[in-house]
Amino acid sequence: MCGIIAYNGQDDAIPYLLEGIRNLEYRGYDSFGCAIDSKVGIIIKKDIGKVDDVINKYKIQDFSSSKAIFHTRWATHGGIKAENAHPMVDCTHRIAVAHNGIIENWAELKESLGAHRFVSDTDTEVLSHLIEEKLNDGADIQSAVKDAFNKIKGSSSFIVLDKQSDDLIAVKKGSPLVLGIAKNGNFLSSDVPSFVRHTNKVVYLSDSDMVVLGKKNYTITNLMNRDVNHDVSTVNFSYQQAEKGDYEHFMIKEIMEQPGLMKNLESADLKNVVRAAELVKHAKQVYLMGAGTSYHAAMLGAKVLRENGINAVAVQGQDLITYRKVISAEDVFILISQSGETADIINVLPLIYKNQKIGVINSEGSTLAKDVDVLIPIGAGLEKAVASTKSFTLSGVYLTFIGMFAAGRGEEAIRDLKLMNINMYNLLVPSVLSAIDKVAEKIKGLENVFFLGRDANYITALEGALKLKEVSYIHAEAIDAATFKHGPLALISDKVYAAAVVSEVTRNDMLYNLQEVKARGGNIIGISDKNENVFDMFIRTQNGGAFTFVMHAIILQLLAYKTAMLKGLDIDHPRNLAKTVTVL
Ligand code: GLU
Repeated sequence: MCGIIAYNGQDDAIPYLLEGIRNLEYRGYDSFGCAIDSKVGIIIKKDIGKVDDVINKYKIQDFSSSKAIFHTRWATHGGIKAENAHPMVDCTHRIAVAHNGIIENWAELKESLGAHRFVSDTDTEVLSHLIEEKLNDGADIQSAVKDAFNKIKGSSSFIVLDKQSDDLIAVKKGSPLVLGIAKNGNFLSSDVPSFVRHTNKVVYLSDSDMVVLGKKNYTITNLMNRDVNHDVSTVNFSYQQAEKGDYEHFMIKEIMEQPGLMKNLESADLKNVVRAAELVKHAKQVYLMGAGTSYHAAMLGAKVLRENGINAVAVQGQDLITYRKVISAEDVFILISQSGETADIINVLPLIYKNQKIGVINSEGSTLAKDVDVLIPIGAGLEKAVASTKSFTLSGVYLTFIGMFAAGRGEEAIRDLKLMNINMYNLLVPSVLSAIDKVAEKIKGLENVFFLGRDANYITALEGALKLKEVSYIHAEAIDAATFKHGPLALISDKVYAAAVVSEVTRNDMLYNLQEVKARGGNIIGISDKNENVFDMFIRTQNGGAFTFVMHAIILQLLAYKTAMLKGLDIDHPRNLAKTVTVL
């Protein structure tokens, strides 16, 4: 899940790459490293720590070069140590390689390279020595890179700087890599926002593409040596989206963008929603797949589809294998992903290559977006905080649309959306924000918090618990309130706090369950449109019809954010996590 960005051109690469790598830090942040082309050879600087810390330590801003690669790491193989930071060099220091992905057969390759001097414990380092081996045999850099690429197994993208070549060489298979074409040079990067300030002309590479990136031109061939012609796309998001603006963190910026994004949906083009609704209507079975927060959106979507008469189930990518004997050609898949690069889903695509696929995806040029038959771009814009917020609510809204449109309830869906948008004005008012502050203050020192809900509110509770875990490091567990009495009630005492998500449909049953918790001394934080006697603390939400989950989700996101703020944590970079999970 590392981030890589490289530039080759007539301008100074360093300022571009400094800015770019900071924008890629969401992809991993345990170490930073760079390879800078210079008259005296390749300069490598790398160390563990956050991007800015390492940059300041080595005064990277003082370098100047027209060709360089920067990398931010999220370790998969080899501990978090300076020598494991990328780029990796060969024995002679002729080439440097920065990598994103996993080389599954690295151990056997390393063994076959016994004569080489390895200095790290990473899988990545086999690349630099494999390339070196071929160069020693007299191959040119392009054939040497191609040969290495053919030998490695698993998903990988990597970029190679060769001090004897004017070009950068890159290959892509599985892990993301895009090409940016700017006025005075070209970029290669793990994602578009990292260079969008300098160009909006982008080539979305396909798997098995090899790019030779010159200072002015580029060529793309595939591993069979055939020329590849990809269209140059013009992307439409601005670099302001990549900045925090007046907000302290991306997470809060992105939470607060939701009311505006929900309003924009009122004028969204829904033709692909209609196409998707047609597909699911005629499906034998609909599978909704997502990972993490997107899996919660999948659960929500599956529930809405079932409520609208469609046979639907939510599945996590890694579980699809257990369905392989029951999947039929008439089944339709809905793939939900913010990045469109989630390895858990990409990995199982071969199982469903014959099926119709609908994508509910944020990144339009991504691997999954390119693979689906009907693409519904959720239009969240850039989401940079590791903890996903606006992608969850937007995916949930689009999935609800699909279900309601399939049942001929499209007009009702639009009406509910408008109702939600009107009631949204009352959601984030000062009294509610201060109620969230009070709850955050209460739970910030706890080790555990329960999240309770029934029906769709249980799914929102799952998402609320995940947010709290991710950013505040408090153990949080969501439980369907109906099942509390079947075991978890044993955990209740007067030290326990449970956040209960309550709305009209399940109110009565929910209140019974909460009484049971209360009777055993538990403290209840009500997240509801009405205050109830059983609540010890109360955060008011609003009714949003079919979209009430959006109201709940925003409150729970804010609760997680504010709790993490009070704990003084690094909210946009939670420990051990990275945003786009491109490894299995
Ligand atoms: N496998 C490489 C490492 O551990 C790259 C990891 C990644 O791309 O997430 O250094």
